[in-house]
Amino acid sequence: MTVEFRGLRRVFGRTVALDGLDLTVGQGELMALLGPSGCGKTTALRCVAGFERPDAGAVFVDGKDVTRVPANRRDTGMVFQSYSLFPNLNARDNVAFGLRVRKVPAARRHARAAELLELVGLPDHGDRYPHELSGGQQQRVALARALAPEPRVLLLDEPLSALDAKVRLTLREEIRRLQLDLGITTVFVTHDQEEALSVADRVAVLRGGRLEQCGPPAEIYDRPATPFVAEFVGTMNHLPGRVTGDRVTVLGRSLPVDGPLPGSPDVDVLIRPEAVLLTPDPGGEATVVTSSFRGASARLRIRLGDLEVLGDVPGHDAVRLTPGTRVAVDLVRRPVLVAARTVPAGAA
Ligand code: ATP
Repeated sequence: MTVEFRGLRRVFGRTVALDGLDLTVGQGELMALLGPSGCGKTTALRCVAGFERPDAGAVFVDGKDVTRVPANRRDTGMVFQSYSLFPNLNARDNVAFGLRVRKVPAARRHARAAELLELVGLPDHGDRYPHELSGGQQQRVALARALAPEPRVLLLDEPLSALDAKVRLTLREEIRRLQLDLGITTVFVTHDQEEALSVADRVAVLRGGRLEQCGPPAEIYDRPATPFVAEFVGTMNHLPGRVTGDRVTVLGRSLPVDGPLPGSPDVDVLIRPEAVLLTPDPGGEATVVTSSFRGASARLRIRLGDLEVLGDVPGHDAVRLTPGTRVAVDLVRRPVLVAARTVPAGAA
């Protein structure tokens, strides 16, 4: 099944939640809708589920306009952020709920519920009530409930946001594995860029109810189309640069530029911290300001003349690179984006 948003618009009073959203989710694809709070992600998802009626535009599922089809006839399964299980039903009956509504006979309902509970790794939890399950287990049951009626499209609205970090990672992988096994077209709403990049086939970055960029995770990360995407996905240094021909000079080095160049020669050069290579060097031009250890790597804030720049080093180097240590700076990759100068220079 494909899901298509065509010129989708939804206005609440004076708030424009969706402002002409165009996007196509391919068959069996997991599309992440990513963007800051209020950019319209949930509204877009609710328009697919049929909980929200757009003011203009349409939603197509499998090439058919479903904009006016009621929610209960859309064949979509949805998982919400949290607390969406029926508290008075045990896990088995929660999973079987959608089947019961569809008048599936009891024996088949129970067999299907058992199958789904097994699929989400909770084969022995059918008798438990939601308050007897952890947050992660509740979301597994919610996923099983959404999948039980074999929906054509799976809609996930920040399904992991209420969970602690470790459970979040495990469940994220399991959702992805399940989605790939079932080959179900899925729209996954999140405001967490790392989550979007790690789980999706493609990421759609939304801004102000419109599509800013859509592409595979690596493309969104390495070739952001706009400064907004560059800024929202990952961390960026903004460094002052000067364009000459098809090269830009930044931190005293001349680098080639791929993308389009702004009209003025004075530009903002957006460079990822992992592209700023730092080595301890008593004669180095920069000084370490702070260091934050992250295990495999450490992120350093360094001072170079008037600028503060973020750079990464391998974790085992971090002990030597205490504040005040002098380091040499090199740039290992081309800038991610060269943009017209808009913001004060410095580290993000
Ligand atoms: P978040 O990550 O915070 O959930 P979101 O990107 O999912 O944000 P939406 O929930 O789609 O954003 O909301 C988009 C805008 O529309 C917001 O400004 C929100 O306040 C507004 N909005 C959404 N639903 C309603 C409603 N039922 N009534 C009034 N305003 C609404």
